Amino acid sequence: RRVAELHSKPQKKTEKKSKVPTHFDLSELPETELLFYKEPYKREFTADVLWKEGDYVVLDRTAFYPEGGGQPSDDGVLKSNGDKFEVLDVQKSGDVVLHKIDSENGVRTGEKVKGEINWEKRSAYMRHHTATHILLGALRSLLGDHVWQHGVQKGEESSRLDVSHHKRISEEKIQEIEKLANKIVFQDRKVNSLWMDRNEAEKKYGHSLYQGGVVPGRKIRIVDIEDWNAQACSGTHCTHNGEVGLIKIINRERIQDGVERLVFASGLPVLESLQEQEQRIKKSAETLRTSPDEIDKAVQKLFDQWKSAKKEVDNLRSRVADLKAEKLEKNSESFNNIQILAEKFEDGDSDELIQIGEILTNNNKNMVVILASGKTSANIIAMAGEKALEEGINCGEIASEAAKSIEGGGGGKPELGQGGGGNVEKLEEAIKMGVKICKKQASGDNNG
Ligand SMILES: [Zn+2]
Repeated sequence: RRVAELHSKPQKKTEKKSKVPTHFDLSELPETELLFYKEPYKREFTADVLWKEGDYVVLDRTAFYPEGGGQPSDDGVLKSNGDKFEVLDVQKSGDVVLHKIDSENGVRTGEKVKGEINWEKRSAYMRHHTATHILLGALRSLLGDHVWQHGVQKGEESSRLDVSHHKRISEEKIQEIEKLANKIVFQDRKVNSLWMDRNEAEKKYGHSLYQGGVVPGRKIRIVDIEDWNAQACSGTHCTHNGEVGLIKIINRERIQDGVERLVFASGLPVLESLQEQEQRIKKSAETLRTSPDEIDKAVQKLFDQWKSAKKEVDNLRSRVADLKAEKLEKNSESFNNIQILAEKFEDGDSDELIQIGEILTNNNKNMVVILASGKTSANIIAMAGEKALEEGINCGEIASEAAKSIEGGGGGKPELGQGGGGNVEKLEEAIKMGVKICKKQASGDNNG
């Protein structure tokens, strides 16, 4: 779970597709008692099965959190008479919580079951949910009260928080936000979650309560981090924010005009990421024969050296091209008012061929060059000087016709044509074809 991986990989889809089937008649069922609000750390519970249909089960009470408020549903198991059933999905329908289990013939109405929550997953959600509130508080405190939560998605490894802000958040600002958020974490403030009358809550906290969106109902659930941030929220949270552990923003991007997305992680995974990153830096430092503290300087030095070496290589290449061109010039053949030079090289890519062609056609404006090279696949280029062009030379056509011999294709403009093909054996033939077309053009036989 390296930071870099978290950076690049798309967020794990946590939103489940399945929703409660619409034909269920749940109207006779009482409101499910929600244990995760009263006892947020409850991992196990017993309950009575009130209703079942297919693989859906309704209990009188549950500690399974149903999907909502950007928090995916809990998973875990239901145990009954020594049998164990996976809880695959939990959804709320009105005041009733439905559990989808992995069997249609599992539990029976009227029996007692024991529920066990997948605590590793849930506690990650609790930490991330609490971290979202802390971060939002830090963002509003440092960027201004116009910052509003635009969207949120909690994950097990990382979560994201989209906020409205008129400009990009700078790297320096991100660090300030991280520092402030972590300062709040280290103060281990109390997180109070309570149900309040809507009017009363609005009077006490103002409309910034609805940073996470307006919630329905006359009674709303308020999550209040002591003297820091209060929001109407239906998710599960830690009761003390020290449990969140280190908060680290691992990525930020502009997802639409006026909306910044922050991807963050919290707790032990952050430490693990930092440890892995440290290892990578140490390894790179070893390769560069320097210390991790000096690695940025070493990388800069290496980059500068590479740049000047590349410049040197380019210089040498053009010098080699000069020398080759000089040597080749003698091999050209006069035909009517043009000079034709056809040559095959063992290696060299088309860029190199063009470089040589440029020198030759600049030195001699009457020159037409047809150059080819290839080991595993064949390249062919044709270039013409200014005066050769006036004689009717069309290099695009030369390249296109020549490339047919090497079972390929080509084309281009009158002054530069390029082609390629798979049959290297036939390169000589292709060159001969190119020369033939060139002579035809120079004789005025082409295009009437
Ligand atoms: Zn929340």
